[in-house]
Amino acid sequence: FIMFGRLGVAVRSAVQRIGGGSVVTQKDIDKTLREIRIAMLEADVSLSVIKTFLQKIQDQALGQNVMKSLRPDHLISKIVYDEMLSLVHNDPVQWTQNSSILIMGLQGSGKTTLCGKLAYMFKNQKFSTLLVSLDPYRPAAQTQLSVIANSIGVDVLPSLKGEDVYATARRALIKKSSYDYIIFDTAGRLHVDQELMQELIGLQALIQAKENLLVCDSLMGQSITDVAKSFSQLSLNGVALSKLDANHKSGIILSLKSLLNLPIKALGTGEKPQDFMQWDAKRVISRILD
Ligand code: GDP
Repeated sequence: FIMFGRLGVAVRSAVQRIGGGSVVTQKDIDKTLREIRIAMLEADVSLSVIKTFLQKIQDQALGQNVMKSLRPDHLISKIVYDEMLSLVHNDPVQWTQNSSILIMGLQGSGKTTLCGKLAYMFKNQKFSTLLVSLDPYRPAAQTQLSVIANSIGVDVLPSLKGEDVYATARRALIKKSSYDYIIFDTAGRLHVDQELMQELIGLQALIQAKENLLVCDSLMGQSITDVAKSFSQLSLNGVALSKLDANHKSGIILSLKSLLNLPIKALGTGEKPQDFMQWDAKRVISRILD
């Protein structure tokens, strides 16, 4: 479901080559680290993350007498797993009931699709959701959200012609006590401009959402940091990465904490509402290394 290219295979085979029982030399460890480095570069993990990561593994490999151990491969494997886990946020994702979720991001990043995925997950957990489009500029976007809402059987706030985004948001907030979650889909642009930013700042102040999520297309790789910087006037508290099913280099997953210090909360793995995974650090890292 998440593609890291050769990363998992390369790390596993590099570690396995160390083997068990035989004497391991510094040269063996250097070779293993070199192979892991190449695999991480190929997966588009950021260079600074790779450097620190390998340094830590090297230090521990020496510190824990891996070379003298009976199962150096197991020891290295455990060190790699622990260090990879420490590259990402490890807190469990918790959605607060009776709250709002504000979805932001560039046009085409996957905002509307994510709204459907979250609503679908909540529905399966027996929670009710109201979906709200705050994109009066593109009627097609409103229609897209309605189609998704209808397909999964959740409510969508009917849009009123000529209404501005703040009035729409207020109309939705009146219904707050009737739903477990209100998810607001916002307008995106191909590039962030000040007009959009002012609107989002205004909406954040009005909605007071518990979750202010930035949706990023994982295919953008490390340039996601530039996208996030252009949204830095907003108080974001999480990132949702989309299109991981179409991405052969998902290194951004391992780089995001170091580059942005924002937790990943959701992973999009396809176009359908069910193609979704809530962030789970141990599960993701295990999937890379298993
Ligand atoms: P928005 O403009 O930010 O609301 O983006 P959309 O939700 O409309 O998504 C843009 C395109 O990306 C649509 O064709 C979606 O079907 C597609 N898309 C969104 N998320 C994913 C994903 O996780 N995987 C794949 N393969 N496609 C996705």
